[in-house]
Amino acid sequence: MKATKRIALVAHDERKQDLLMWVRQNADTLAKHELFATGTTGKLLADQCGLAITRMKSGPLGGDQMLGAMIAKGELDLLIFFWDPMSAQPHDVDVKALLRMSVLYNIPTACNRATADFFITSPWFNTDYEQVVKDFSGYIRRPLE
Ligand code: PGA
Repeated sequence: MKATKRIALVAHDERKQDLLMWVRQNADTLAKHELFATGTTGKLLADQCGLAITRMKSGPLGGDQMLGAMIAKGELDLLIFFWDPMSAQPHDVDVKALLRMSVLYNIPTACNRATADFFITSPWFNTDYEQVVKDFSGYIRRPLE
């Protein structure tokens, strides 16, 4: 992982204010990195914090899956995902899939503010980090005969 991180920011509706507050507090640091977000989260953060953010589709319309695909392709370094622990989501399976990708590919993932605070104060946030990623090359399923 290079010093300039590719960071995905996502928040469910009930957590958007929490994420907005955290991003506002850390905007100077975040501005030095490459930012991505699901559609509505990205619009909110770009409008309110003036950050350059590449937006995916809205989460329920496939945005979480787009971020998951980026992780699978090695195109994201960090995930900040304030998911809502109190409400059912119509795209719950997509949320689960995104979190699964982040664990599978050993992507640092913050799902609440305290973790995000630990993240951003880590010396590795702004420096190179040697990330251990399992070798999955042996895991190729045989095609059906
Ligand atoms: P949103 O999606 O940023 O478009 O609201 C967030 C999500 O539910 O994944």
